[in-house]
Amino acid sequence: ADKGVVDWTYSTCGYCSTGCSIEIGTNAVGKPVASRGVGGADVNRGKLCLKGIFEYEVFEAIGRASTPLIRDHIHEPYSVSSWDPALDKMASEIKRIQATYGRDSFAVVSTGQILTEEFYTLGKLVRGAIGTNNYDGNTTLCMASAVSGYKRSFGSDGPPGCYEDFEHTDCLIAWGSNLPEQHPIIYWRMKDAMEKRRFPLIVVDPRVTIFAQNADIHLPITPGTDVVLQNALIHVILKEGLEDLDYINANTTGFDELAKEVENYDPTSAAKLCGIDEDTIRTVARLYAKANRAMSIWTMGINQSTHGSDGVVGINNLNLVTGNIGKPGGTSLSITGQCNAMGTREWSSCSGLPGYRALEKAEDREEIAKFWGIDPEFFPKKRGLTETDIFPAIETGEIKGLWLVATNPMTSMANTARIRKTLEKLEFLVVQDAYTDVETSQYAHVFLPAGIWAEKEGVFTNTERRVNITRQVTPPFEDSKSDMQIFNELAKRFDNGQKIHFPERPVDVFEEMKTLSKGRLCDISGMSHDLIEQERGIQWPYTEEHAAQGAKGTQRLYTQPATFCYANGRAKLIPLPFINNNEVPDEQYPFWLNSGRLVEHWHTRTKTGKIGNNNKFSPIPFMEMSPDAGHELGIKHQSYVRVTSRRGDAVVMVMLTHRVPKNMVFIPFHFYDCVNRLTLGLLDPHSRQPAFKQSAVAIEQV
Ligand code: SF4
Repeated sequence: ADKGVVDWTYSTCGYCSTGCSIEIGTNAVGKPVASRGVGGADVNRGKLCLKGIFEYEVFEAIGRASTPLIRDHIHEPYSVSSWDPALDKMASEIKRIQATYGRDSFAVVSTGQILTEEFYTLGKLVRGAIGTNNYDGNTTLCMASAVSGYKRSFGSDGPPGCYEDFEHTDCLIAWGSNLPEQHPIIYWRMKDAMEKRRFPLIVVDPRVTIFAQNADIHLPITPGTDVVLQNALIHVILKEGLEDLDYINANTTGFDELAKEVENYDPTSAAKLCGIDEDTIRTVARLYAKANRAMSIWTMGINQSTHGSDGVVGINNLNLVTGNIGKPGGTSLSITGQCNAMGTREWSSCSGLPGYRALEKAEDREEIAKFWGIDPEFFPKKRGLTETDIFPAIETGEIKGLWLVATNPMTSMANTARIRKTLEKLEFLVVQDAYTDVETSQYAHVFLPAGIWAEKEGVFTNTERRVNITRQVTPPFEDSKSDMQIFNELAKRFDNGQKIHFPERPVDVFEEMKTLSKGRLCDISGMSHDLIEQERGIQWPYTEEHAAQGAKGTQRLYTQPATFCYANGRAKLIPLPFINNNEVPDEQYPFWLNSGRLVEHWHTRTKTGKIGNNNKFSPIPFMEMSPDAGHELGIKHQSYVRVTSRRGDAVVMVMLTHRVPKNMVFIPFHFYDCVNRLTLGLLDPHSRQPAFKQSAVAIEQV
């Protein structure tokens, strides 16, 4: 009341994939002045973390982009533009580049931050009107390994579990997830469930994270060796006859091949590779297999690895051999990163076509082409480059133009010195963002100011497949436009864009998506914006039949009798030989470099770096280092050091702490010109996701 709130508008938090329900309070002149969590059965039960509590401040934070900017050369200052000249310039440059170098010489990289209706519209524009196959999202830095691993194990992407599984599980392994900092409200849901029904918590992480401090068993694994540990756990389970043979026989293929492979991973040998002592491996294997219901969750410690996809398959293998998929408390649940990483997986068309359709399937191409009213031959017949392959293709000259939507590779990609040179090579770069000072805008020829989160209306899908709505709290800032308006305006400038219908209202786009979702795993045909708000989110699949029966959403996929998405209805058990292909510490670069998130900040700080109450707790980057290593090198707490890798160097303040082992340092990834000057980012062969947490560095006092 003291902030003068006269109205509260329902929304879904625009930061992480927990999907908290949030209300934004506006004052008498419509200015957002407060945020509050929404209670009841909402996923967050009325709570918000620090980011959500101060989220109302992002609307008018410093650096908000208010008008389009254009220039011919990146060494010139920008000129202020109105929308038509900026979009005309963009369209004509895209056409020039495509006419000169071929359709795929113009690339697009989007985000996990925009609304699902906007993803769908962008996919339509890129796939159906502009016609480039080099289209991806920054989710390749985040969840690509989870997508790939789910597809390999179950025949489709889509997390099978839900948060309520915490209330039913008898054992939980968290792989490479610092839940209290990354997803504080999911952590609170887990703790709440644990207080009611105690279950063992096992945390696999090379760092002593806050989550590891709260675990019953902490497994401080050697970076990059998750697959070794997973194989060793299954080895023990099979040796001791603890597998669920009935489940395996009824639901899977590949058991014999998996059993043969894990023969090679006895705990004694595995312990030498993964750094976990053999008795602990046996203890954890027995705990997991003997639990009636066991679940695994994971985040970037698994995904951002040279074998991220294998790490996900390894988790799925473990759950399939113990019969822990599709039952309450028994699941493999990837804890997603961005607020709408799931929406981009379902509807963006980055890796395929809308509704989990594949470019490789003729029937999928024909179905979408017919629905949009274009020739199916306009679509490529296989997926193009991922984000991490687009940048090398700029270096080689294969790609000449790039459009970045709400993503900031100058801070988020590995080896940023190389990214800087790569961006300078482009003939044409468009940056579309809500903040003009996003670091990558230094290299753009056109900057398009976009509306942010609750300046728009539409849906996000959270970690547990829950589709929830964001209502418009306030119009886009000054002369900025919603991302969907920008996509629609640009579409008018392409021939196919005039043939395809681009609805203007998010609710009409949602109707198109509903139609296209019918019969797909991600069926949303029974939902509507109003019903979603009324139910505080609905988990897909949610069909028209569900709606007619007044049913709730689908909490779990692959419940018994399970039908997985492979043609034979079975999940695949996949043998995972371990190949050690990481950059590892050596005499010259003796420390592992690990990176990750802080609770106060979101990704590259374009938002949270402007919010006083977030920023004051974590204003600058720092490096965690073991006091023992510090003592040996004569490095004191709060002194400054130069950290050097084969890619570059960064100067950073030292925090001496026992959170990291003696041969490792940790630097948060949010800060510009810091940890990603050092990272190598070797790519996973299946997902093309970079390994951000496995590089080698040297340290010297400055
Ligand atoms: Fe937002 Fe995630 Fe915090 Fe919830 S936990 S308030 S979704 S940042």
